[in-house]
Amino acid sequence: MTLVIAVMFLSKKIIEQNLPNLNSFKLPLMKNNIMSKLSRKEFIYQIPKAELHLHIEGSFEPELMFEIAKRNELKIRFKSVEEVKEAYKFNNLQEFLDIYYEGAGVLIHENDFYDMTWAYLEKIHAENVLHTEIFFDPQTHTERGIAFETVFNGVYNALQDGEEKLGISFEIIMCFLRHLDEASAFKTLESALPFKDQIIGVGLDSGELGNPPSKFKNVFAKAIEEGFLTVAHAGEEGPAEYVWEALDLLNVTRIDHGNRSLEDSKLVERLAEEQMPLTLCPLSNLKLCVIKDMKDYPLLDMMFKNLMCTINSDDPAYFGGYLSANYLAVAEALDLDNEIIYQLAKNSFEASYLSDEEKDAMIQKVDDFYLENQ
Ligand SMILES: [Zn+2]
Repeated sequence: MTLVIAVMFLSKKIIEQNLPNLNSFKLPLMKNNIMSKLSRKEFIYQIPKAELHLHIEGSFEPELMFEIAKRNELKIRFKSVEEVKEAYKFNNLQEFLDIYYEGAGVLIHENDFYDMTWAYLEKIHAENVLHTEIFFDPQTHTERGIAFETVFNGVYNALQDGEEKLGISFEIIMCFLRHLDEASAFKTLESALPFKDQIIGVGLDSGELGNPPSKFKNVFAKAIEEGFLTVAHAGEEGPAEYVWEALDLLNVTRIDHGNRSLEDSKLVERLAEEQMPLTLCPLSNLKLCVIKDMKDYPLLDMMFKNLMCTINSDDPAYFGGYLSANYLAVAEALDLDNEIIYQLAKNSFEASYLSDEEKDAMIQKVDDFYLENQ
């Protein structure tokens, strides 16, 4: 009997020691959803939320790609929408990027960029995304002779209309393509200066391996001097070292992806201490083989370690789903209850660039929804 009690006591101790620091994770982990009026899927699609990691060119659906190619009298190598979708099977980030840049090649006029952005806004409006902070990649277009203004105005005008007509607030983050050199990034920064009141930050995307954040430290320093906030993709395919570099050399305020931070306990400690947001993208990680199975997704491990996690869609047209589909994929695979989904929705606003007042107002909406539907 004493032995049984001792084992029980020890087990309890072990469980307690392995529990997360609950600062950002205050609610109990297990709750029966049977009483919820909404199904898990309905709960996810209806809860107010924000998106913080979305490449607008990655929302370019094949149907619209064909339509725009046709009106611009451009030929694409695919014969049908089905053929394009068939090509969306990637073994790694680079294979995806090759098709991604090819698809973006049909965007020529301002209204092309407008239509692409508007289509994204309509999609997220249907799933109650109230705020979005989107990336755009000017070099994908300027490198093929499209003016910076053409790209920016098309995207911006659609976002403004989205705010007015659909009630979706927004911020814009301009990304540098890391496979190009720093001189090209400097040129892009220069082009963005007339629009700096409308662009909140700069980021770093494209092929990560072999293109560490340190390659761009000078242009990021200049961007900060000009008043931009900074973010960077790091630790998606690249090592934890790239996350350190993003923090220390680029002074980022968010890490995009950051999965591989888990390989470095000192880094995890720092990210937790600073409550540095990670913009995680589950379906992207699955599609680009960063994880083998959604059941391996390290979300709970990250939350247990008190990391500030958010869920995002990255390039939804290519990876099989928009924001809610990402929540749902991970919720189903890990059997997440509504309380964790609620926490993730709150994190999405907490980690955003909204003002404190705006954050409070948005989080109140999330709280109200949760109270009504728990
Ligand atoms: Zn991304």
